[in-house]
Amino acid sequence: MVAAQTALKDMRINAEKDKTRLVLDLSNEVRYKILTLNNPNRLVVDLYGARKTNKIKSSTKGNGLIDTIRVAKNTPAKLRVVIETKQVVLYKVNMLKASQKRDSRLVIDLKGMYEGSQKVVASAINNSKMIIAVDPGHGGKDPGATGKKIKEKDLVLKISKRLANLINTEPDMTAILTRNDDSFPCPNNNRSCGQKSSLNERLEIAKRAGAVLFISIHANSFRDQRIRGAEIYALPDSAKFKKDEHWKAMYHNKQSKSRIKLINVTSGKQIKNVTASEVIAFDQSLQISDKIIQELRKVIRVRKSSRQAAFIVLGSNDMASVLIETSYLTNPEDEKILINPINQQKIAEAILKGVKKYTRESRQQVTK
Ligand SMILES: [Zn+2]
Repeated sequence: MVAAQTALKDMRINAEKDKTRLVLDLSNEVRYKILTLNNPNRLVVDLYGARKTNKIKSSTKGNGLIDTIRVAKNTPAKLRVVIETKQVVLYKVNMLKASQKRDSRLVIDLKGMYEGSQKVVASAINNSKMIIAVDPGHGGKDPGATGKKIKEKDLVLKISKRLANLINTEPDMTAILTRNDDSFPCPNNNRSCGQKSSLNERLEIAKRAGAVLFISIHANSFRDQRIRGAEIYALPDSAKFKKDEHWKAMYHNKQSKSRIKLINVTSGKQIKNVTASEVIAFDQSLQISDKIIQELRKVIRVRKSSRQAAFIVLGSNDMASVLIETSYLTNPEDEKILINPINQQKIAEAILKGVKKYTRESRQQVTK
Protein backbone atom coordinates (compact mmCIF):
# COMPACT_ATOMS: atom_id res chain seq x y z
CA MET A 1 0.00 0.00 0.00
CA VAL A 2 1.22 3.47 -0.86
CA ALA A 3 1.34 5.94 2.02
CA ALA A 4 -0.92 8.95 1.64
CA GLN A 5 1.03 11.78 0.05
CA THR A 6 -0.84 14.78 1.33
CA ALA A 7 -0.81 15.82 4.98
CA LEU A 8 -3.59 17.75 6.68
CA LYS A 9 -1.36 20.02 8.75
CA ASP A 10 -3.72 22.41 10.45
CA MET A 11 -7.35 23.57 10.70
CA ARG A 12 -8.45 27.11 11.43
CA ILE A 13 -11.94 28.45 12.08
CA ASN A 14 -12.76 32.12 11.63
CA ALA A 15 -16.25 33.06 12.79
CA GLU A 16 -17.50 36.39 11.49
CA LYS A 17 -20.85 38.04 12.11
CA ASP A 18 -22.75 36.24 9.36
CA LYS A 19 -20.19 33.81 7.99
CA THR A 20 -17.93 31.07 9.30
CA ARG A 21 -14.76 30.06 7.48
CA LEU A 22 -12.88 26.81 7.97
CA VAL A 23 -9.42 26.58 6.43
CA LEU A 24 -7.69 23.22 6.04
CA ASP A 25 -3.93 23.61 5.56
CA LEU A 26 -2.60 20.87 3.32
CA SER A 27 0.90 19.96 2.19
CA ASN A 28 -0.37 19.58 -1.38
CA GLU A 29 -3.47 20.20 -3.40
CA VAL A 30 -5.80 17.29 -3.05
CA ARG A 31 -8.82 15.84 -4.79
CA TYR A 32 -11.88 16.20 -2.58
CA LYS A 33 -15.55 15.40 -2.51
CA ILE A 34 -18.33 17.00 -0.46
CA LEU A 35 -21.54 15.47 0.74
CA THR A 36 -24.11 16.84 3.16
CA LEU A 37 -26.40 15.12 5.64
CA ASN A 38 -29.02 16.03 8.24
CA ASN A 39 -29.71 14.92 11.81
CA PRO A 40 -27.31 16.25 12.80
CA ASN A 41 -26.61 18.74 10.01
CA ARG A 42 -23.18 18.02 8.63
CA LEU A 43 -20.86 18.64 5.74
CA VAL A 44 -18.60 15.70 4.95
CA VAL A 45 -15.34 16.49 3.18
CA ASP A 46 -13.42 13.51 1.81
CA LEU A 47 -9.77 14.24 1.04
CA TYR A 48 -8.32 11.63 -1.29
CA GLY A 49 -4.79 10.45 -0.68
CA ALA A 50 -4.55 12.46 2.52
CA ARG A 51 -3.55 11.72 6.10
CA LYS A 52 -3.68 13.82 9.23
CA THR A 53 -0.68 14.99 11.19
CA ASN A 54 -0.51 14.54 14.97
CA LYS A 55 -1.48 18.18 15.41
CA ILE A 56 -5.00 17.40 14.22
CA LYS A 57 -7.22 16.02 16.95
CA SER A 58 -9.91 13.48 16.06
CA SER A 59 -12.54 15.84 17.47
CA THR A 60 -12.38 19.63 17.70
CA LYS A 61 -14.93 21.98 19.19
CA GLY A 62 -16.27 24.44 16.64
CA ASN A 63 -17.07 28.13 16.57
CA GLY A 64 -19.63 30.27 14.75
CA LEU A 65 -21.85 28.04 12.62
CA ILE A 66 -19.65 25.01 13.28
CA ASP A 67 -20.50 22.78 16.21
CA THR A 68 -17.71 20.19 16.03
CA ILE A 69 -15.18 18.90 13.52
CA ARG A 70 -14.24 15.25 13.45
CA VAL A 71 -11.32 13.95 11.42
CA ALA A 72 -10.74 10.26 10.74
CA LYS A 73 -9.21 7.97 8.18
CA ASN A 74 -12.28 6.70 6.38
CA THR A 75 -10.52 4.22 4.10
CA PRO A 76 -6.77 3.90 3.56
CA ALA A 77 -7.25 6.09 0.49
CA LYS A 78 -9.15 8.95 2.06
CA LEU A 79 -9.29 11.18 5.08
CA ARG A 80 -12.76 12.20 6.17
CA VAL A 81 -13.46 15.59 7.77
CA VAL A 82 -16.97 15.81 9.21
CA ILE A 83 -18.12 19.35 9.92
CA GLU A 84 -21.17 19.31 12.14
CA THR A 85 -23.11 22.57 11.82
CA LYS A 86 -25.59 24.23 14.15
CA GLN A 87 -28.13 24.76 11.39
CA VAL A 88 -28.78 24.13 7.71
CA VAL A 89 -26.16 26.19 5.88
CA LEU A 90 -25.09 27.35 2.47
CA TYR A 91 -21.51 26.38 1.67
CA LYS A 92 -18.79 27.35 -0.77
CA VAL A 93 -15.55 25.38 -1.13
CA ASN A 94 -12.34 26.57 -2.79
CA MET A 95 -9.00 24.83 -3.21
CA LEU A 96 -6.22 27.41 -3.11
CA LYS A 97 -2.84 26.62 -4.59
CA ALA A 98 0.29 26.83 -2.47
CA SER A 99 2.27 30.04 -2.76
CA GLN A 100 5.84 30.72 -1.67
CA LYS A 101 4.66 31.71 1.77
CA ARG A 102 1.65 29.50 2.29
CA ASP A 103 0.58 25.90 1.98
CA SER A 104 -2.25 24.70 -0.20
CA ARG A 105 -5.54 25.40 1.50
CA LEU A 106 -9.05 24.10 1.22
CA VAL A 107 -11.28 27.01 2.21
CA ILE A 108 -14.81 26.16 3.30
CA ASP A 109 -17.18 29.09 3.81
CA LEU A 110 -20.50 28.64 5.55
CA LYS A 111 -23.41 31.00 5.96
CA GLY A 112 -26.95 30.61 7.17
CA MET A 113 -29.23 29.39 4.42
CA TYR A 114 -31.99 31.73 5.43
CA GLU A 115 -29.74 34.76 5.75
CA GLY A 116 -32.32 37.41 4.94
CA SER A 117 -34.74 35.86 7.42
CA GLN A 118 -32.04 35.49 10.04
CA LYS A 119 -30.94 39.11 9.66
CA VAL A 120 -34.42 40.59 9.92
CA VAL A 121 -35.18 38.53 13.02
CA ALA A 122 -31.86 39.45 14.67
CA SER A 123 -32.60 43.08 13.95
CA ALA A 124 -36.17 42.81 15.24
CA ILE A 125 -35.12 41.32 18.57
CA ASN A 126 -31.94 43.33 19.12
CA ASN A 127 -31.75 46.75 20.68
CA SER A 128 -30.17 48.28 17.58
CA LYS A 129 -32.17 50.15 14.95
CA MET A 130 -33.83 48.15 12.20
CA ILE A 131 -32.89 49.61 8.83
CA ILE A 132 -35.73 49.43 6.32
CA ALA A 133 -35.33 50.23 2.62
CA VAL A 134 -38.40 51.78 1.04
CA ASP A 135 -38.38 51.45 -2.73
CA PRO A 136 -40.70 53.64 -4.79
CA GLY A 137 -41.06 51.64 -8.02
CA HIS A 138 -40.11 53.01 -11.44
CA GLY A 139 -39.12 56.72 -11.73
CA GLY A 140 -37.57 59.04 -14.32
CA LYS A 141 -37.93 57.66 -17.83
CA ASP A 142 -40.06 54.80 -16.50
CA PRO A 143 -43.55 56.02 -15.51
CA GLY A 144 -44.88 52.56 -14.58
CA ALA A 145 -48.66 52.26 -14.75
CA THR A 146 -50.62 55.31 -15.82
CA GLY A 147 -54.00 56.30 -14.51
CA LYS A 148 -56.21 59.07 -15.83
CA LYS A 149 -54.80 61.61 -13.38
CA ILE A 150 -51.57 60.23 -11.96
CA LYS A 151 -48.59 58.15 -12.99
CA GLU A 152 -47.47 55.22 -10.87
CA LYS A 153 -43.94 56.65 -10.41
CA ASP A 154 -45.35 59.85 -8.85
CA LEU A 155 -47.95 58.15 -6.69
CA VAL A 156 -45.57 55.56 -5.23
CA LEU A 157 -42.98 58.25 -4.46
CA LYS A 158 -45.59 60.09 -2.38
CA ILE A 159 -46.61 56.95 -0.47
CA SER A 160 -42.98 55.88 -0.01
CA LYS A 161 -41.96 59.26 1.40
CA ARG A 162 -44.85 59.11 3.84
CA LEU A 163 -43.84 55.60 4.87
CA ALA A 164 -40.18 56.59 5.29
CA ASN A 165 -41.18 59.58 7.43
CA LEU A 166 -43.35 57.38 9.64
CA ILE A 167 -40.58 54.79 10.00
CA ASN A 168 -38.13 57.52 10.99
CA THR A 169 -40.35 58.61 13.87
CA GLU A 170 -40.04 55.12 15.37
CA PRO A 171 -37.24 54.98 17.97
CA ASP A 172 -36.02 51.56 16.84
CA MET A 173 -36.28 51.97 13.06
CA THR A 174 -34.57 53.93 10.29
CA ALA A 175 -35.75 54.25 6.70
CA ILE A 176 -33.74 54.77 3.56
CA LEU A 177 -35.31 55.48 0.17
CA THR A 178 -33.95 53.93 -3.03
CA ARG A 179 -34.96 57.20 -4.74
CA ASN A 180 -36.36 60.38 -3.24
CA ASP A 181 -37.15 62.26 -6.44
CA ASP A 182 -38.31 61.53 -9.97
CA SER A 183 -35.16 59.62 -10.91
CA PHE A 184 -34.45 56.12 -12.18
CA PRO A 185 -31.82 54.47 -9.93
CA CYS A 186 -28.85 53.17 -11.94
CA PRO A 187 -25.49 51.67 -10.94
CA ASN A 188 -22.55 54.10 -10.46
CA ASN A 189 -24.93 57.07 -10.56
CA ASN A 190 -25.32 56.62 -14.31
CA ARG A 191 -28.09 58.64 -15.90
CA SER A 192 -29.63 55.65 -17.62
CA CYS A 193 -29.64 51.88 -17.46
CA GLY A 194 -31.95 48.97 -18.18
CA GLN A 195 -34.81 47.74 -15.98
CA LYS A 196 -32.87 44.82 -14.59
CA SER A 197 -29.81 46.80 -13.56
CA SER A 198 -32.03 49.45 -11.97
CA LEU A 199 -33.78 46.78 -9.90
CA ASN A 200 -30.45 45.27 -8.86
CA GLU A 201 -29.12 48.73 -8.01
CA ARG A 202 -32.10 49.33 -5.72
CA LEU A 203 -31.17 46.14 -3.85
CA GLU A 204 -27.54 47.28 -3.72
CA ILE A 205 -28.55 50.67 -2.29
CA ALA A 206 -30.47 48.82 0.43
CA LYS A 207 -27.61 46.42 1.08
CA ARG A 208 -25.04 49.21 1.32
CA ALA A 209 -27.24 50.93 3.90
CA GLY A 210 -27.44 47.72 5.93
CA ALA A 211 -31.16 47.24 5.35
CA VAL A 212 -32.68 44.01 6.64
CA LEU A 213 -36.09 44.65 5.10
CA PHE A 214 -36.91 45.90 1.60
CA ILE A 215 -40.38 47.27 0.92
CA SER A 216 -41.13 47.99 -2.73
CA ILE A 217 -44.16 50.19 -3.41
CA HIS A 218 -46.08 49.94 -6.68
CA ALA A 219 -49.50 50.50 -8.22
CA ASN A 220 -51.00 48.12 -10.70
CA SER A 221 -52.61 48.29 -14.12
CA PHE A 222 -54.71 45.92 -16.16
CA ARG A 223 -56.54 46.10 -19.47
CA ASP A 224 -59.80 45.20 -17.72
CA GLN A 225 -60.63 48.40 -15.82
CA ARG A 226 -62.93 46.54 -13.43
CA ILE A 227 -60.00 44.80 -11.73
CA ARG A 228 -59.18 46.56 -8.48
CA GLY A 229 -57.65 46.13 -5.03
CA ALA A 230 -54.24 45.78 -3.42
CA GLU A 231 -51.91 42.80 -3.62
CA ILE A 232 -48.71 41.87 -1.81
CA TYR A 233 -45.90 39.70 -3.08
CA ALA A 234 -43.15 37.83 -1.22
CA LEU A 235 -41.07 34.71 -1.78
CA PRO A 236 -40.18 31.78 0.46
CA ASP A 237 -36.44 31.59 1.18
CA SER A 238 -36.11 28.37 -0.80
CA ALA A 239 -36.94 30.38 -3.94
CA LYS A 240 -34.23 32.90 -3.07
CA PHE A 241 -31.04 30.96 -2.43
CA LYS A 242 -31.23 29.15 -5.76
CA LYS A 243 -30.50 32.44 -7.45
CA ASP A 244 -27.07 32.63 -5.83
CA GLU A 245 -24.94 30.27 -7.89
CA HIS A 246 -21.81 30.68 -5.79
CA TRP A 247 -23.31 29.02 -2.76
CA LYS A 248 -24.70 25.53 -2.52
CA ALA A 249 -27.36 24.50 -0.07
CA MET A 250 -26.77 21.74 2.43
CA TYR A 251 -29.26 18.90 2.09
CA HIS A 252 -32.39 19.79 4.01
CA ASN A 253 -35.89 18.51 4.51
CA LYS A 254 -38.65 20.78 3.36
CA GLN A 255 -39.39 22.67 6.52
CA SER A 256 -42.78 23.92 7.49
CA LYS A 257 -43.36 27.24 9.18
CA SER A 258 -42.13 27.09 12.73
CA ARG A 259 -41.18 29.30 15.59
CA ILE A 260 -38.11 31.44 15.57
CA LYS A 261 -35.33 29.81 17.58
CA LEU A 262 -32.03 31.06 18.90
CA ILE A 263 -28.80 29.10 19.11
CA ASN A 264 -26.57 29.42 22.20
CA VAL A 265 -28.69 32.22 23.62
CA THR A 266 -30.48 31.50 26.86
CA SER A 267 -30.76 34.58 29.01
CA GLY A 268 -32.82 37.67 28.30
CA LYS A 269 -29.69 39.80 28.57
CA GLN A 270 -28.02 38.14 25.61
CA ILE A 271 -31.12 38.39 23.45
CA LYS A 272 -30.41 42.08 22.96
CA ASN A 273 -27.34 41.41 20.84
CA VAL A 274 -27.75 38.20 18.89
CA THR A 275 -26.06 37.84 15.52
CA ALA A 276 -27.89 36.61 12.43
CA SER A 277 -26.07 33.28 12.56
CA GLU A 278 -27.45 32.62 16.04
CA VAL A 279 -31.00 32.79 14.70
CA ILE A 280 -32.92 29.91 13.18
CA ALA A 281 -35.75 31.38 11.15
CA PHE A 282 -36.92 31.15 7.58
CA ASP A 283 -39.56 32.51 5.22
CA GLN A 284 -39.76 35.74 7.19
CA SER A 285 -40.67 37.68 4.02
CA LEU A 286 -43.90 35.67 3.96
CA GLN A 287 -44.46 36.34 7.66
CA ILE A 288 -43.98 40.08 7.15
CA SER A 289 -46.24 40.17 4.10
CA ASP A 290 -48.98 38.41 6.10
CA LYS A 291 -48.80 41.06 8.81
CA ILE A 292 -48.79 43.96 6.35
CA ILE A 293 -51.77 42.68 4.39
CA GLN A 294 -53.73 42.18 7.63
CA GLU A 295 -53.30 45.89 8.31
CA LEU A 296 -53.80 47.05 4.70
CA ARG A 297 -57.10 45.19 4.61
CA LYS A 298 -58.38 47.58 7.28
CA VAL A 299 -57.82 50.67 5.11
CA ILE A 300 -58.15 49.59 1.47
CA ARG A 301 -59.73 46.86 -0.57
CA VAL A 302 -57.42 43.86 -0.96
CA ARG A 303 -57.76 41.82 -4.12
CA LYS A 304 -55.45 38.91 -3.40
CA SER A 305 -53.09 38.56 -0.48
CA SER A 306 -49.63 37.01 -0.13
CA ARG A 307 -48.85 36.07 -3.68
CA GLN A 308 -45.56 34.71 -5.01
CA ALA A 309 -43.83 35.93 -8.14
CA ALA A 310 -40.22 36.03 -9.27
CA PHE A 311 -39.78 39.79 -9.08
CA ILE A 312 -36.07 40.65 -9.00
CA VAL A 313 -36.43 42.79 -5.88
CA LEU A 314 -37.88 39.80 -4.00
CA GLY A 315 -35.05 37.44 -4.95
CA SER A 316 -32.29 38.73 -2.68
CA ASN A 317 -31.24 36.45 0.15
CA ASP A 318 -29.53 39.39 1.87
CA MET A 319 -32.72 40.73 3.38
CA ALA A 320 -36.40 40.06 3.78
CA SER A 321 -38.44 41.71 1.04
CA VAL A 322 -42.02 42.41 0.07
CA LEU A 323 -43.61 44.15 -2.91
CA ILE A 324 -46.90 45.94 -2.44
CA GLU A 325 -49.22 46.75 -5.34
CA THR A 326 -51.24 49.45 -3.62
CA SER A 327 -54.23 49.03 -6.02
CA TYR A 328 -55.06 49.44 -9.72
CA LEU A 329 -54.53 52.83 -11.35
CA THR A 330 -56.55 51.53 -14.30
CA ASN A 331 -59.62 51.23 -12.07
CA PRO A 332 -61.32 54.65 -11.66
CA GLU A 333 -62.43 54.02 -8.05
CA ASP A 334 -59.00 52.77 -7.02
CA GLU A 335 -57.31 55.76 -8.66
CA LYS A 336 -59.66 58.15 -6.87
CA ILE A 337 -58.74 56.53 -3.54
CA LEU A 338 -55.02 56.48 -4.28
CA ILE A 339 -54.67 60.14 -5.31
CA ASN A 340 -56.21 61.29 -2.02
CA PRO A 341 -53.33 62.21 0.36
CA ILE A 342 -55.38 61.02 3.34
CA ASN A 343 -55.50 57.54 1.85
CA GLN A 344 -51.82 57.65 0.92
CA GLN A 345 -51.10 58.33 4.58
CA LYS A 346 -53.44 55.53 5.70
CA ILE A 347 -51.68 53.07 3.41
CA ALA A 348 -48.27 54.12 4.74
CA GLU A 349 -49.52 53.79 8.31
CA ALA A 350 -50.95 50.33 7.64
CA ILE A 351 -47.63 49.12 6.18
CA LEU A 352 -45.73 50.38 9.23
CA LYS A 353 -48.29 48.81 11.58
CA GLY A 354 -47.77 45.48 9.85
CA VAL A 355 -44.00 45.70 10.22
CA LYS A 356 -44.31 46.69 13.89
CA LYS A 357 -46.66 43.80 14.52
CA TYR A 358 -44.08 41.50 12.98
CA THR A 359 -41.19 42.82 15.09
CA ARG A 360 -43.28 42.71 18.26
CA GLU A 361 -44.35 39.12 17.67
CA SER A 362 -40.79 38.08 16.79
CA ARG A 363 -39.56 39.49 20.11
CA GLN A 364 -42.35 37.74 21.98
CA GLN A 365 -41.46 34.41 20.39
CA VAL A 366 -37.88 34.43 21.63
CA THR A 367 -38.42 35.98 25.05
CA LYS A 368 -41.22 33.66 26.11
ZN1 LIG B 1 -44.94 49.02 -10.76
